[in-house]
Amino acid sequence: MKFQNPKGILSVIFVYGIIFSEYYVFVFHYLPYRYNNNNSLSTIFIVIEFTLIYLMIHWAYIQAQIQSPGHPSPHLANNYQEHTLQEIKNRTKKHSEIIQKKRKQKLMKKYELAIDEEDEIFDIIQAIQLDSYCFKCQNVKQPRTHHCKECNKCILRMDHHCPWVNNCIGMNNHRFFCQFIFYALLCMSQCFIFITIELLGDTQLKANSKFLCQICAFTCLLLCLSMGTLLAFHLYHIAKNITTVEFHIEEMKTDNPFQKSKIIDNFKELFGSDYIYWILPLTDNLSNKTKIRNDSFEL
Ligand SMILES: [Zn+2]
Ligand SMILES: [Zn+2]
Repeated sequence: MKFQNPKGILSVIFVYGIIFSEYYVFVFHYLPYRYNNNNSLSTIFIVIEFTLIYLMIHWAYIQAQIQSPGHPSPHLANNYQEHTLQEIKNRTKKHSEIIQKKRKQKLMKKYELAIDEEDEIFDIIQAIQLDSYCFKCQNVKQPRTHHCKECNKCILRMDHHCPWVNNCIGMNNHRFFCQFIFYALLCMSQCFIFITIELLGDTQLKANSKFLCQICAFTCLLLCLSMGTLLAFHLYHIAKNITTVEFHIEEMKTDNPFQKSKIIDNFKELFGSDYIYWILPLTDNLSNKTKIRNDSFEL
């Protein structure tokens, strides 16, 4: 398993601890009690179903951690003619200077701005559709590629760097990240509903089990609220074909050049055209996805 940042192992251990403790309380404290109270057949079914969801969480979580988010080809810049490369470098410098300058002036709400005395217009929507240059990686950045400071690498269709996954979330592992949240949400909401109904009734749970169930229900409620919001945020933006990085660009919300007319096509860009990959965190090749340009060079 490849961890991008050794310090991030603590975050990952914390997440595993939370998931396991919820599973432990539900399966080893609540369900045996339920089994002994004339619900034996349905309880066996719940154990199997719950354990399958629990395994799906781990599968998706591990995939999100170990799968590369996607990086530009390391020798991409070599495929460009020298003068084209110089143009890309100059353009990138110019754009970053303009953005920095306007940020300082707190004028980022409006992106079409005149450059100094020249009557030249800088249009951010046009700029983000062009190749740019990463001076840290010394390589060309295709559109939607961003340099992650944590990973110190350029990430294709970068969404965000996730400390809880200890990996960048980009083109190739955004799907696993969403699946992880989805299955975790399914697991936690089930825990919360069953245990809360039990605790609100005339429960005969033993004191220690009852205490653990109360803590479990409370943490599951908090996790459901936070993960539900997070999943809704991601699904909404995938439907709009906008990344978390791009979400902070005001103009992208009204003039997104990457958005396809059909919502399903926006989802297919990340989840693939084969629906089995929407459900299972299987590793696939990029054949099912809309490929990121790797051949955008002159010969
Ligand atoms: Zn870079
Ligand atoms: Zn990163």
